[in-house]
Amino acid sequence: MAIDQARLLTLKAAWALDKHGVFGALTEVSAIKVIAPNVLQMVVDAAIQIHGGEGVSDPELSMLMAMARVLRLADGPDEVHRGVVARLEIKKYV
Ligand SMILES: Cc1cc2nc3c(=O)[nH]c(=O)nc-3n(C[C@H](O)[C@H](O)[C@H](O)COP(=O)(O)OP(=O)(O)OC[C@H]3O[C@@H](n4cnc5c(N)ncnc54)[C@H](O)[C@@H]3O)c2cc1C
Repeated sequence: MAIDQARLLTLKAAWALDKHGVFGALTEVSAIKVIAPNVLQMVVDAAIQIHGGEGVSDPELSMLMAMARVLRLADGPDEVHRGVVARLEIKKYV
């Protein structure tokens, strides 16, 4: 469910960029920057847990976990993207 959520939101962001340009797609772009790395982190965590001790010893899963964690900061922290989404949502009703 979470992977589909990320996939569909990515497609929506791409559609919004094509249809409305960068400034018309700020909400979707910021949203996917929060959702995709968090879903990746959650999925890799589940994969590690399922495999028990082997999961924490697996170099690929360890690398993916580090990568997912870095992605929640590298293009700006989650909080900054959440702030963008919140400001744009509130602006609609002011
Ligand atoms: C591997 C990697 C690659 C990177 N690549 C690039 C790159 O190519 N180009 C580039 O420009 N930068 C890049 N960065 C920098 C990255 O954008 C910053 O690390 C990130 O924006 C966080 O800034 P900071 O490290 O100064 O932490 P801070 O700004 O000190 O943030 C620390 C924490 O404070 C909180 N916080 C910060 N601001 C807010 C806010 N407005 N609202 C609420 N909470 C907030 C968050 O919890 C955040 O995690 C990269 C970083 C990493 C780790």
